[in-house]
Amino acid sequence: TRELVVAVDRLLTHADDVRRLRVRANADTPQDAARARRLGAQGIGLCRTEHMFLGERRVLVERVVLAADDGERQAALDALLPVQREDFVGLLHEMDGLPTTIRLLDPPLHEFLPDLTELSVKVALAAARGEEDPHDVTLLGAVRRMHEANPMLGLRGVRLGLVIPGLFALQIRAVCEATARLLAQGASPRPEIMVPLVGSVQELRLVREEALRIMAEVSQETGQQLDLPVGCMIELPRAALTADRLAGEAQFFSFGTNDLTQTTWGFSRDDVEGAFFAQYTANGVLAVSPFETVDVRGVGRLVKIAVEEGRAARPDLHLGVCGEHGGDPESIRFFHQAGLDYVSCSPFRVPVARLEAGRAAVSSLADTR
Ligand code: PEP
Ligand code: MG
Repeated sequence: TRELVVAVDRLLTHADDVRRLRVRANADTPQDAARARRLGAQGIGLCRTEHMFLGERRVLVERVVLAADDGERQAALDALLPVQREDFVGLLHEMDGLPTTIRLLDPPLHEFLPDLTELSVKVALAAARGEEDPHDVTLLGAVRRMHEANPMLGLRGVRLGLVIPGLFALQIRAVCEATARLLAQGASPRPEIMVPLVGSVQELRLVREEALRIMAEVSQETGQQLDLPVGCMIELPRAALTADRLAGEAQFFSFGTNDLTQTTWGFSRDDVEGAFFAQYTANGVLAVSPFETVDVRGVGRLVKIAVEEGRAARPDLHLGVCGEHGGDPESIRFFHQAGLDYVSCSPFRVPVARLEAGRAAVSSLADTR
């Protein structure tokens, strides 16, 4: 096995020598970041900050979202700030010197709020016993108000950030404070702020203006000059089709092909495993699930439109992909041809992505001879 490891390393080094696409990883913890780095990742292309609030920490976000008034919300935000700051210090420390794209909160709300049915039953049973808990009753009211029939098409991503005051500002401040602290220690943190699920330029403009304001504030407070790139995900057809306008407000785009596939085809990404794809692929309607390999005619066309129009509007626009397709060999060849700057995938897929990016470069060289 030792010989095999050496041989694979040699192969990957050759691939690294020829590839044009850079390879980053999707990681949300210092552990995953370290692993990604060991496997050759050249940065983090997607840190899903909502993953930092799974399990016991979920309640920290829940309190912000369900706060009854401004005072309650501010208290919940104040509790969250130091937690997020330390999260980002950990991640940026691990990725020192490498670009680290931190995506603002993008939770489908149903994954973060208490389950409406369970809570209704709990409250009803307590009432029947004459043991009503006022906290649960208030909570139920709030959860009912926020309940959505289609959460994946609802209050997600930037929409949540614009509807819940202070939420994105808190995360941006946490990134800025973490960066300033590391800079003061002589480190080289390279965070980038990414806005999820953008559909209109106005959404992006509002968040970007807020980000610029907070960068200036934290620069003033800490004496560290902060100039973090701000960009957005392209994961809605409308975003791809208005890329020229978005590029006016974004230093980078990252294609979220999971959502872009879902919204282009109207297929539910959550049901993909058990859905009808097996029949569809078996009887030849689809050659392969579009969630696995980029559907070049549909999703791929949207990517190309966004690349072309985005770059025409801003020649130095940086372009990457962070959907699952970023680790799929066939899709990587497509992204190379489409002219992206990097792919970002799960840490364990990084070596394959390096290899495929190398192969893509070799085959396009062969095409030009
Ligand atoms: C995507 O939609 O492709 C993406 C990377 O974001 P998420 O999977 O977190 O929705
Ligand atoms: Mg997405």
